[in-house]
Amino acid sequence: MIYIVSLLNDYLEENMRQSILFIPTLKEVPSDAVAKSHQLMLRGGYIRQVTAGVYAYLPLAYLVLRKAEKIIEEEMENINVPEMIMPHFLPATLWEESGRLPKYGPEMFRLKDRHGRESLLGPTHEETFTEIIGKNIKSYKQMPIALYQIQTKFRDENRPRFGLLRGREFVMLDGYSFAATREQLDKQFDDQKHAYKKIFKRCGVEVYPVIANSGTMGGKNSTEFQAPAAIGEDVIATNETGTYSANLEMARSIDTFSPEKEELKPLEKIATPDCATIEQLSEFLHVPNTRIVKSILYIVDDKKVLVLIRGDKQVNEVKLQNALDADSEPRVATNEELLSIVKATKGGVGPVKAAYADYIIADETVKGLYNVVVGANESDYQYINANIDRDFKVNEFADLRTANAGEPDPVDHLPLKFTTSIEVGHIFKLGTYYTNSMNAKFLDQNGKTQPIIMGSYGIGVTRMLSAIVEQHSTDNGIFWPKEVAPFEIHIIQMNMKNDEQTVVSKKLEEIFSDKYDVLYDDRNERPGVKFNDADLIGAPIRIIVGRRVSEQIVEVKKSTVQESVEMSLDSLTEYISKELR
Ligand code: ATP
Ligand code: MG
Repeated sequence: MIYIVSLLNDYLEENMRQSILFIPTLKEVPSDAVAKSHQLMLRGGYIRQVTAGVYAYLPLAYLVLRKAEKIIEEEMENINVPEMIMPHFLPATLWEESGRLPKYGPEMFRLKDRHGRESLLGPTHEETFTEIIGKNIKSYKQMPIALYQIQTKFRDENRPRFGLLRGREFVMLDGYSFAATREQLDKQFDDQKHAYKKIFKRCGVEVYPVIANSGTMGGKNSTEFQAPAAIGEDVIATNETGTYSANLEMARSIDTFSPEKEELKPLEKIATPDCATIEQLSEFLHVPNTRIVKSILYIVDDKKVLVLIRGDKQVNEVKLQNALDADSEPRVATNEELLSIVKATKGGVGPVKAAYADYIIADETVKGLYNVVVGANESDYQYINANIDRDFKVNEFADLRTANAGEPDPVDHLPLKFTTSIEVGHIFKLGTYYTNSMNAKFLDQNGKTQPIIMGSYGIGVTRMLSAIVEQHSTDNGIFWPKEVAPFEIHIIQMNMKNDEQTVVSKKLEEIFSDKYDVLYDDRNERPGVKFNDADLIGAPIRIIVGRRVSEQIVEVKKSTVQESVEMSLDSLTEYISKELR
């Protein structure tokens, strides 16, 4: 037994030696990598691409991934959510039941088995969980419960890019909750939100929980966790105190323009040649853009929807889709469609006598405007002095505009600031969307059959790795937050031929391995090579064992600090326990 334990120790110790760890670092910045995190993870020998959007996680990346997973496991345990694992390979019939098969489209990796049965590789697992829980839960007494898994997902993204940020195969934490009442769901959602905040904090990711698009299920039901980063594909709008934060798709702002009440003037049609833009029109007519109402014809779920918005504002199509409760994304009518439907080109479209429109919806900014300019449903002609109700009807007013930076937020009226960011997580009150379509029902306290109330919760674990690197790096190196660093201490022996240095390095390795993850650079390489690699490996603490070791002195460098400091071997233990506490 003792023999086995010591063998195991040898093995573990050996594992920390850089000479046998596969870390294929690169000197050059890979030309095909745009994102800083992608470049650093390739240069640092963390990952290699196998095919577009599909990566091998080499030992360094795998160490970080395992640490992030361990943090997730601990935080899920803290909120009493057990882990399990679902298959990757799924029958298409599950997705037919939920109705998502056609909607999911080409992002789904589909295949047929030898009997010709339609199958797929799971891009997410709402259906699979709903099916199994629905079949096995019969009573309110069995709820609330929640489950999670950490699993590889497959999505045939149109443009996989930025390394692990948008892959076609990636690791996701996905959790699902099942409740008998709305109150139970609210509690589950809050627990998950709390756990997610802790996970991101421990992983060292700065995140904003933001109001996110939950389609037709309502605004408060979905929160995204957004990590600010230059490469981020999302934009979030926040105020400085953090009392309001939303994905730009959903962000609201207060309109500061207040029109004055005016006498209604007679409607008049006038020629406006060569006015292709609002600016040109405003100049030509000598009116401010706030007196012009833009009319845009959208095709939404096969309906012709005329959207009105004040000339200084832009339409937010996510808000439009939600306001209309539409299944499909709104699409602006093409020029050909305009010519056949309206008999006018873009600038001539307007709400007066617009019988072609199935529905007219206007942004709130249009309310209270007087004597406005609108298209006359004739190319190169506008009406001036058009007025709501007298000259045209609006079926519905809604917030349809894109918020602008600097506008007051809707909570505390502080200026909105925009930041690009990476969506690292998303939690969602699904309600009964899946359980209704998949017939997952239970008997409530009164013996009545009800659909189970669901929530779903996800973190892109491999995407998070990239987000960590984006937030904790320079162009030449990574400084990993200590809980997810592949190694906490990196011992660098300057001269492998110096026996004294070898003895001290090994001793330090032995002492610190007890408590910390230690990497010992025992390679016969020049110091320059070792330091460059160490910058990419990014351990929080670097101990350089060099010339002055005969005087019991080594150099210590924190990854976040440019300079190293000399330190006696005596004070090392205390220093490290303080730094890595
Ligand atoms: P996106 O808008 O970025 O495509 P999504 O809305 O499709 O994301 P979800 O379906 O909510 O994402 O998936 C949960 C989490 O999985 C996301 O918050 C994100 O962190 C991660 N994720 C989604 N797609 C990818 C991908 N292609 N590569 C890596 N991680 C991803
Ligand atoms: Mg997506």
